[in-house]
Formats: sequence, structure tokens, C-alpha cells
Amino acid sequence: MSTPMQTTELPFGQRVDAALANATLKLAIDRTTGTAERKRAAAVAAFPRFEAARDRGQRIKDHVIAHLEHYLLEFERNAIASGAQLHWAATADEASRIVVDLCRKAGARRVTRVKSMLGEEIGLPHALDEAGFERFETDLAEHIVQLAGDRPSHIVWPSMHRTREEVSALFKRSHRAPHRDETIEAMVDSARRELRDKFLGADVAISGANFLIADTGATCTVTNEGNAELTTSPPRVHIVTAGIEKLVPSLPHAFALLRLLVRSATGADLTQYTTFHCGPRRPGDRDGPEEFHIVLVDNGRTKMLADTALREMLRCIRCGACMNHCVVFRQLGGHAYGGTYPGPMGAVLTPVLDGLQRSRDLPHACTLNGKCEEVCPVRIPIPTLLRGWRDRSWRDGLEPASMRVGLGLFTFAASNPWLYRLGTALGLRAMRLFARGGWIRRMPGLGAWTAHRDFPAPEGRSFMARYASGEGRQP
Ligand code: SF4
Repeated sequence: MSTPMQTTELPFGQRVDAALANATLKLAIDRTTGTAERKRAAAVAAFPRFEAARDRGQRIKDHVIAHLEHYLLEFERNAIASGAQLHWAATADEASRIVVDLCRKAGARRVTRVKSMLGEEIGLPHALDEAGFERFETDLAEHIVQLAGDRPSHIVWPSMHRTREEVSALFKRSHRAPHRDETIEAMVDSARRELRDKFLGADVAISGANFLIADTGATCTVTNEGNAELTTSPPRVHIVTAGIEKLVPSLPHAFALLRLLVRSATGADLTQYTTFHCGPRRPGDRDGPEEFHIVLVDNGRTKMLADTALREMLRCIRCGACMNHCVVFRQLGGHAYGGTYPGPMGAVLTPVLDGLQRSRDLPHACTLNGKCEEVCPVRIPIPTLLRGWRDRSWRDGLEPASMRVGLGLFTFAASNPWLYRLGTALGLRAMRLFARGGWIRRMPGLGAWTAHRDFPAPEGRSFMARYASGEGRQP
């Protein structure tokens, strides 16, 4: 079984090579993203007002982003009025520390968690383990990730890098009672048996939030497994961690975005479970926590707000559609990206979170084919944002000398037509020398490409030569 955890410290190029050489990974990615693409297309086709819904989603998010302070204060007021305790965290470390301190104050031994990418972003699983709590991930995919010692590789399907055969072997090794057969149902049953008593014996529940509703102070969480409800009901304390961009003015706005989120993420009309939490248990309530905490996390978001070139990324509702449709993600999977968030949205966010110097390769690992923008439910212009990062990387002097020299030579040749023509003519000749049966399998200078696939041999004359001779022009 592959162990992606061990590859995260490698340089980007080596992570890419490792991913491309992993046939099992490719099989797992193809199964999941292929299904996701088909289901989203069907869901969108069955929703005739989808484009208008996207426009509305974009308007809602843009409005909140433009009035973020107003809605944050409104949310704070209403959440406190409902009995919640609010905490503000400027950084990932601060957010983790607040959660760990709250768990300690509650005298917690066992902590259960509902899947939350914000939790991954702030390093919460690691912080809880370090502090000595018994942590249980209750989402099925996160349960797989925890058992395997992995990191999530997708924001909606964290263990999409695992085939069902790998998961079966993992469960047989890790669960107390092995599943009866190799069906997915039997494996789910096995996880259910394993996790049920963990839900009931937990002292603190930690969840994320898909939306924060400003006019009521409620948080909204969506799942397909019902684990959020099971996780957050029995414990004495419930802690919600959420990024400040999750705000919406009111419930109808949350539903408008929910329609987009679910169709774009899984191709369903609605998630199986949509839960609102508003304050702790009240007198007469049959269950619910005695304490309800909300940790609002900035961690670079106000920096993005102040940056007109990145602000649009705050619209992201974490649906994962951009990665499901990305030609690069579909070759590599999520771990090769190295950060918390993979795929096109990760290539924009990781430089914000980890610094451009550490992640300058990511904006370059994109063909700029525009498919991500085409499917993004809130119309984030991801290719434009990635070009912005490339531009900054160039201006900040982060590009390697080989890139600077290469581009300098290209600029010189491209601005001297005779040199450009000579260069393309020589290049074409050289490529034909190496071509066999219409393909180039190996050629000096093309190694990065031909190491993983053949390069198509040039056909006929160059475009410039054909254009100059009038070939193909209308009479
Ligand atoms: S960038 Fe758009 S498509 Fe990608 S996860 Fe965010 S909302 Fe979804």
C-alpha cells in the first residue's frame, strides 16, 4: 500500500514522478473523478436554472466578502445571544491552540471529529494527537485516512487515493472484527461497528461548518453519512471551527449556495443530512452539548480580502468540482500538491497559506485549459488567479535561472522573425529525426514529457509556412 505521508517533504518534481508511477493511484483517481464528472453533468442538466443559480451564488459570496466585517459582527452578536461561546483565531496555530485548550478545560479524554478541511488546514488532527487526546475521525473516508496514517487527498473524498481493495485490506488489519465479504456494504458495516461506541463515549465533538448564518448565529453542516449528528449530539462539549469566509446573511442564502454545492460536489440534489446548530442544549432539550464553542479562523483570509488579485478565491464553497475536472489532478491525485488543498483551488490557496516561495511550482502545474472556471459553481476565475501567482513569482525573483535564461532566449528569438523561423525549422527537422510511426518516444530536451508518454511527431510544414503559402485560406 502506498504511503503518501512520506512523500510530502520531497520536492514537487519528485512527488509528481512518484504519483505518475503509481498505477493503483491512477485507477483509484479514475474511478472517483470519472463518476463525479458524470454525476455532476447529469445533475446540472436536470437543473435548468443552473447558470442563473451560479450567478446568484457569485453575487451572494461577493456581497458577503464586500461586507465581511458587518456580517461577522452580526453573526457574533446572534451566536452569543443563542448561548454559543465565540473565539477568534488569527492564525492556524492559534486556532489549534484554542481547540486543544477547550478540550483540556473540558477534561476530555476522547475526542470525535467530523470531517473539516479547515481542521486539516490548521493542523488540528496532529495538535490533538500531540496533546494526548484519543482522537477518532467519524467520517468514513477520514476513518480510512486515520487508520492508514495518510493525509486527505481530496476535499470531498479524502481517501479517494485508495482503491476498495486497499481499504478492504486496511480494515482487515485494523478492525476488531473483519468484514464478512468484499462488498462495499460489508466494509461500511465494519466501520460502523468499529465507530459506534466511539461516538457514544466521546467527551468533546469537533466539527467544521459549511455555512455560518449571520442573522441567527447558527452553523450549518452537511454530510452524507449522518456522522455529524451522531458526533455532535452525545458529548458534553461541541466545538465548531470555521473560516470567516463561510458567512452568509441568512438561511435562504445558505440554501441557494447549498443547491450549487451539492450538485457540484457529488451530483446529488441534496445531501443526506443538513444540520443546523444554534447554541448549546436548552432546558427541555433531549440531547445536545452543555457547551457550544465556535472558533472563527482568519489564517490568511483577511490578507486575501485586501488583495484584489486574490479576493475572488474567498468565494470558494469547497465543492471539489475544479479538481474532479482538472487534467493535472486526474493524473496526480491530491498528495502531489503537498498542501492541505489540492487541485486548481489548492494551487491558488497554498501559496497564501504556505508562502509563494515554498509552493511556486503549483501555479505552474496547470495547463490553463479553463475547465476549472467552467465548472466552478461560483465562477472563480482560477486560471487568471494562477497567472497572477506566476507573475508575482517572476517579479519576486523566485523563478529558477534556467527559466529566466530560457524565457530570455525565447523573447529574443520571438522578436527576431528570421531567428524564430530558423529555430522552428531546425526544431521540426530534429523532431522528425527522432519520430517513429508518428510518435517520438525519446528525444533530448523532451525527457520530462517522454518519460511518461509519447510526444506526437510534427506533421507537414509549420503553421507559419502554411500561412505564408496561402494554404487553407478562403478563395
Ligand atoms: S474553486 Fe470553485 S470548483 Fe473549486 S472547490 Fe472552490 S467552489 Fe468548488
